[in-house]
This record gives sequence, structure tokens and C-alpha cells, in this order.
Amino acid sequence: MMGTLISLSLFEKNDIVVNSIYKYLAISEKLFSANRNDSEISKINQQAGKHPVQVNSNVFQLIKKALIFSKLYPESFNIAVGPLVKLWQIGFSGQHLPNDDEIKKCLCLVDTTGIELDDVKDEVFLKYPGMELDLGAIAKGYFADQIHLILKKYSINNAIIDLGGNVLTLGSNQITMDHKWQIGIQDPRSKRGNILGSVACRACSAVTSGVSERYFIKKGHLYHHIINPKTGYPLENNVSQVTIFSSSSLEGEVISTVAFFAGVVNGIRLINKMKNVEAIYVTRTGQIVTTAGLRFRNFQTR
Ligand code: ADP
Ligand code: MG
Repeated sequence: MMGTLISLSLFEKNDIVVNSIYKYLAISEKLFSANRNDSEISKINQQAGKHPVQVNSNVFQLIKKALIFSKLYPESFNIAVGPLVKLWQIGFSGQHLPNDDEIKKCLCLVDTTGIELDDVKDEVFLKYPGMELDLGAIAKGYFADQIHLILKKYSINNAIIDLGGNVLTLGSNQITMDHKWQIGIQDPRSKRGNILGSVACRACSAVTSGVSERYFIKKGHLYHHIINPKTGYPLENNVSQVTIFSSSSLEGEVISTVAFFAGVVNGIRLINKMKNVEAIYVTRTGQIVTTAGLRFRNFQTR
């Protein structure tokens, strides 16, 4: 689902819980996806410049949060990036290198001041025709946190939720002596499952943003799926991937994108100031840099 492999690990067989989470994700994909014509997000996008659209209240609340983050981090995280994502189609069969004019046209539409929210009616209005929302950099974090709540409701205390790049561990690991989880950090230059090292942690979220999952190469240049809302091109810096450890997956998702844009030096500085948030960067040349909280304690390289 959601263009990735999703897994849920429990310590005991429980088909009711598994089915309920499966159903939750199927419904959510239908509501939140920017790639399905019948989703709530597509309905908003189709009515851009025409009418406000009333949406499901969970969709409204997530858009509201995402808009706050977009205004907080205007240089990086931007939910109005939809026209550029659709233009490049990175990770989809139509992926290609657009020309400068096409990019310029889309750039004018990546404007969060054109997003109007009506709290009373749960309505979303995109003021300019052609504007498009894209929740791709926040939705999975939100889903992981929601699944956590569903599991709590079923009194499931220990589990691993893995939404492909978004891992959330709950409670404690029932099969290790120290009851800690070991979260592996994928080596971006190696095949899936080959890790650079691992982090031992108690219940936590680990979210990775990077260039090595969805990209294409043209004339020796790598074009990946995280688009710079200021230039319209995939962000150019020396970060290959950044993994954020935090308590909430939604927060981790947003910070992973912001940290990706900030680059290693500024990103480490920024995250060192955040309480209970840690990061591991891997640069394009394979250098590993971690925040102070991970440096001496729980990060162990292979
Ligand atoms: P992943 O999909 O690996 O979790 P991200 O969390 O960084 O990676 O999200 C990337 C997705 O978010 C893209 O596929 C696209 O849908 C959307 N996106 C791309 N650039 C931006 C951006 N600058 N701000 C917000 N969303 C973006
Ligand atoms: Mg992400």
C-alpha cells in the first residue's frame, strides 16, 4: 500500500487487530492519496480556483497541521508542492526531466498563502487554479501514530509498525534480554537489508528521508523525489539520507524532510536543540554523522 511495503509485527497472533489495521490503511489511502482521483485530496485539488471543498475531519486536521509546518519551514517542507511532484512524477512510470518553463509555471503555484481553511465547515480552498496539495511527506507519519492509537485501544502494548521508511516501536522488545529494540539504519549504497549500524532504543519512532528509494538518473545526474520548493528541482546537497528518532512519527516525518534540506552541519545544530529528537545523517560519500545524544550511547556501527 501507499507505494511501499507495510508491516506490522506483534508478539501474539491476533487476526482481529491485523484486519482492523489493514482496513484503517485501506480507507486512509483512499482518503489521503494525491494519486487517486477519488481521494479527498484530489477533490480539493480538482476544485482549485473554483470552490472550497468540505472534507473528512481527519483529513482537514492533518492538512491544518501540515500547513502550520509549511509556514514554520517555508524553505523546505511545503504541502503546496503538488504541481511539481506531478510534473516530475519521480518514482512513477512517467518520471522525466521537465524543462525550465514548465518548472517556472509550477513554482508560482507552490504558494501556501493560497490555501484557505474553514475550521467550522472543515472546508479547504485552494485559491489559484492549478494549485495542488501533496501530503506525501507527512501522511505516513500520521498513519503510524494513528495505528499506535488503534493498537492501544486493543490493549496491544508491544509491537513494531513499519510503513516503509517510517518505523514505530511500541512498548518493549519481548525477545531480547534488555527489552530494547534494535533499529537498523539502511546503507543507502547497498541492497535492502544491509545496514550501516543500529540504534538500541526503547519505544520510539525512526523516520528516514533520502535520495536512494525514489529517483532516476539522467546524463549522470541523480534526480530524487524531495523537491526544493524554491527552485522546483530536487534538492541539491550532499545528504544521502537522514533518519530522525523522536517519539511521534508525524513529528519525525516533518523533521526528516526539514533536516534533509538543512544539510548535515545546520541540521545537526538544529536537532541538537530539540528535546528528545536525534538524527543520523549519511552523506553521499558515505560519511555518517549523528547528533550528540546518539554519538556516544546507542548508535553502533557494523
Ligand atoms: P518518503 O516518501 O521517503 O517518506 P519524504 O517524507 O521526504 O520521503 O516525502 C517525500 C514525498 O513528499 C514526495 O514523494 C512528495 O510526494 C512530497 N514532497 C516532495 N518534496 C516535498 C517538499 N519540499 N515538501 C513537502 N512534501 C514534499
Ligand atoms: Mg517520509
